[in-house]
Amino acid sequence: MKTDTRVKVSKLLKSEPGVEMLVKGWVRTKRGNKNVVFVALNDGSTVNNIQIVFDMTQFSEEALKPVTTGSCIAVEGTLVASPGGGQSVEISAKSIHLYGTADPETYPLQKKGHSMEFLREIGHLRPRTNTFGCIFRIRHAMAFAIHKFFNDKGFFYLHTPVITASDAEGAGAMFQVTTLDLNNIPRDEDNRIDFTQDFFGRASNLTVSGQLEGELGAMALGEIYTFGPTFRAENSNTPRHLAEFWMIEPEMAFYEIKENMDLAEEFIKYLVKYALENCAEDLKFLNDMFDKELLARLNSVVETEFVRLSYTEGVDILMKSGEKFEFPVYWGADLQSEHERYLVEKHFKRPVILTDYPKEIKAFYMKQNEDGKTVRAMDVLFPKIGEIIGGSQREESLEKLEARIKEMGMESEGLWWYLDTRRFGTAPHSGFGLGFERLLLFVTGMSNIRDVIPFPRTPKNAEF
Ligand code: ATP
Ligand code: MN
Repeated sequence: MKTDTRVKVSKLLKSEPGVEMLVKGWVRTKRGNKNVVFVALNDGSTVNNIQIVFDMTQFSEEALKPVTTGSCIAVEGTLVASPGGGQSVEISAKSIHLYGTADPETYPLQKKGHSMEFLREIGHLRPRTNTFGCIFRIRHAMAFAIHKFFNDKGFFYLHTPVITASDAEGAGAMFQVTTLDLNNIPRDEDNRIDFTQDFFGRASNLTVSGQLEGELGAMALGEIYTFGPTFRAENSNTPRHLAEFWMIEPEMAFYEIKENMDLAEEFIKYLVKYALENCAEDLKFLNDMFDKELLARLNSVVETEFVRLSYTEGVDILMKSGEKFEFPVYWGADLQSEHERYLVEKHFKRPVILTDYPKEIKAFYMKQNEDGKTVRAMDVLFPKIGEIIGGSQREESLEKLEARIKEMGMESEGLWWYLDTRRFGTAPHSGFGLGFERLLLFVTGMSNIRDVIPFPRTPKNAEF
C-alpha cells in the first residue's frame, strides 16, 4: 500500500470522482464473473456501502477468493463516476490488502434478513448489520445533542455517583454492591449482616436515579443535568425496561411545574428535530425497512403542541372510554402503559403531559398540592411507548417533606444530607428524568428496548 490517506466511506460517497485514495472496511457482499468483481464495502461511517470494482485482468482469482462477506480489507484505487444505478461514485481498485477473513461456513451474518430475536443472540456481531449501524449512530447523535441542548442553555453537567448508600427514592429494586464474602457473611449480635465490615462501612447499591444528588447541584449551580447509567433490578421483562439504562435528569432551581413542562417539551422536540436533521440517512433506512410511519411520526411530534391535563382528567377519560383494559382504571390507580397509550394514540393523537398525580403512587419528594391528595408530578406520555419522562416540582418545605417521609414510614436518617437543601437556603425547584433508551425507541421506531442499547442488561442476560 503506497498511500496511508484512508478516506471514510461517508466522505467518499460525497466526493468528486478522480481522486486516488485508500478505503478500509468490511465486505457486505461480493458478486461478479471472471471479468469483473463487485464488492460492497462498509466501514460503519454510514449506512451506505461503497462499490469497489475489480477488473479481473489486473487481479488473480486467488487474491479475491478469501474476500467474502464479513471479511476485512483495504483497497487502494481511484474514485470514478459509477455507470451503474444506485450510486454516483465507485472505486476502481488498483491493489487490495486482506486484513481478516470470515469463513462463509461459520460467519453468522453470512445472509441478510435475520430476525431481531436472532440478532440479540449474536449481540457481539449485530453492530455489523445495517439496522444496528443505524441505531447506534443515532444513539451517538442523540447523546451529543443532549449535551449540546443543555450546554447552549447554560446548564452544567453534574456527575452523580453510580454507587450510593441511599435507598431514598424507592424508584426501583436495587442491585447491592458489596465486597463481603458471600460464603462467609459477617453478622452482628442480632444476627444481622454486619455492613460495618463492608467496603463502604454501610449497605450500598447501584444508583436507581441521580436525582437526589442532582438536587444538591441545582441548589448551588442553578441548573444542572445528569446523564449516566442507572440500575434497576426490574424483574419485569417488558419491551420497555432494562436493568441497566441511561437517564438524563435535569434539575433546576426556581422552576415551577409549568417551566418544568415547558423545558421537557422543548427538550424532546429539540432532540427529535436534531435527529431528523442530522440522521436523515439512518432514519430513512429504518423507516423503509421497519416502520413506514416513523418519519411521519417524528415530524408530527416536532410540530404539535403536547396536550397538558391532570391525572384526574386523564382517569376520567379512561373510565368513560368504554375500552377494555387488562388493568382496571380508577382514581388512585398507577397508570399502565396501555392506559397511557390509549390517551396518546387513541384519544388525543398527540403526546400528553399528565400532572397532579395521587400522592400515594408518587415519590416522597414531590411538591404537595393544596388539596392534600395530589402532588405536582408530571409524566410525559408518548405514542408507542407510554411514559418517556417522569418528573415533578420538588417539595421545598422542610416541614412538609419531613411529615411526608414519616407518613410513608420511610427512614429519614440516611436522608439528612438531602434534607439540608431544605434546611439551608431552600427554594422552589423542579426536574425530570428522561429514559435515554425510551427516547431511542421513539426516535428509531424499534419496538424492543433491547435493540437500542449496544449491550442490553435484562434478567438472565449479561453475557456480552
Ligand atoms: P415505568 O413506570 O415505565 O417503570 P418509572 O415510573 O419507574 O417508569 P421513573 O422512576 O420516573 O420511571 O424514571 C424516569 C424515566 O426513566 C422513565 O420515564 C423512563 O423513561 C425511564 N425508565 C424507568 N425505568 C426504566 C427501565 N427499567 N428501563 C429503561 N428506562 C426506564
Ligand atoms: Mn419503573
